[in-house]
Amino acid sequence: MNFKLDDEHLLVQRAIRDFARERLAPNARRWDEEERFPLELVPELAELGLTGITVPTELGGAGFDVLGNAIAIEEVAAGDGSIALSVAAHNGLCLGHLMLAGSDEQRRRFVPRLAAGEALGAWALTEPSAGSDAAAAQTKAVREGDGWQLNGTKQFITNGSIAGLYVVIAATAPRQLSAFVVERDTAGLRPGKTEKKLGLHASDTAVVHLDNVRVPATQLLGTPGQAFRDVKQVLDKGRIGIAALAVGLARAAFEYAVGYARTREQFGQPLARHGAIQQKLADMRVKLEASRLLAHRAAWLADSGQEFRVAASQAKLFASESATAIALDAIQILGGYGYLRDHPVERILRDVKLMEIGEGTSEVQRMVIARHELSA
Ligand SMILES: Cc1cc2nc3c(=O)[nH]c(=O)nc-3n(C[C@H](O)[C@H](O)[C@H](O)COP(=O)(O)OP(=O)(O)OC[C@H]3O[C@@H](n4cnc5c(N)ncnc54)[C@H](O)[C@@H]3O)c2cc1C
Repeated sequence: MNFKLDDEHLLVQRAIRDFARERLAPNARRWDEEERFPLELVPELAELGLTGITVPTELGGAGFDVLGNAIAIEEVAAGDGSIALSVAAHNGLCLGHLMLAGSDEQRRRFVPRLAAGEALGAWALTEPSAGSDAAAAQTKAVREGDGWQLNGTKQFITNGSIAGLYVVIAATAPRQLSAFVVERDTAGLRPGKTEKKLGLHASDTAVVHLDNVRVPATQLLGTPGQAFRDVKQVLDKGRIGIAALAVGLARAAFEYAVGYARTREQFGQPLARHGAIQQKLADMRVKLEASRLLAHRAAWLADSGQEFRVAASQAKLFASESATAIALDAIQILGGYGYLRDHPVERILRDVKLMEIGEGTSEVQRMVIARHELSA
């Protein structure tokens, strides 16, 4: 057992923490109110390796392991949840699928551009009528000549209106999925409505329409009809990232509440001297630590080549639900001020709720965990 991060991980943590403090946190409120992803930030994200976090260096990435990714995402989220979600989708989902299922030739062709931040990636699985039951996807891919033709509508796609490259999941037969790389300028691919959301306003979430989109056979990722297995593996790793994202948001709320409790006085003394506030802070800290440990354990299992699906679900479930509770407690500690946009805890609460929904809801995580218990 060794809970100490090694020098390389500490270096990543320090660099991204500084960036998040200087560049993300001070702008988070403005970006939230402008309701747009700040594309001008992408070169800075790329400079730090955040556009190719786990991509090997020979393909232009930062070459971090799964733990390094969790550390990076936590730090970005502590500065801005929206940027963290967009970064997580680009890396964990789009690049994650390309690296998992792409051939060497496909990786060489599509990955370096994404890793360099020249284009953002999106991963289009969810549909209006296929959410938790993703295998029920209705988007169809039909063989046509030497390629495929795709038709359907994708819902809730992160980076959906701003991506340069999409990994699109489509059915080649009922409940048999295949994955395709579709470039933004392909005829028939059309981003639709950009969603107005409760939180994560600066993360782009859009409908993506596919009308007679033709892709060559060289853009099929993996084996036709077998993509659901890859999708599950992509989501397993993605869930560690979402757990880390929840930890980052919760940490920001916690630290803000501690600072506030030290300075705000009521009944002649700082809030931090009141027992009820101390009890809350203690519970928040324990939830935060337990969440991070679960996330790092799942990452360690993945990095050491062990089975990590259930550990990832446990981490995502616990970290996301704990983070919402921590954000609520942070608002309570600020009282009326916590309800105002003047303080970041209001935004964090709106942002953090998504972690209980995206990449598999809490109910789906409980299904994964319970099925594992009952299958033994
Ligand atoms: C901001 C945002 C970003 C997203 N980004 C992406 C993205 O980049 N790419 C992508 O493909 N998708 C993305 N999603 C979609 C997300 O993964 C889905 O919203 C999520 O998987 C849930 O699907 P759904 O919304 O259709 O809910 P539903 O599946 O309709 O579920 C509704 C409710 O029913 C519950 N439920 C469903 N089935 C069961 C069951 N068997 N037992 C018990 N309860 C059940 C669910 O847990 C939930 O509480 C994003 C969503 C949001 C909001």
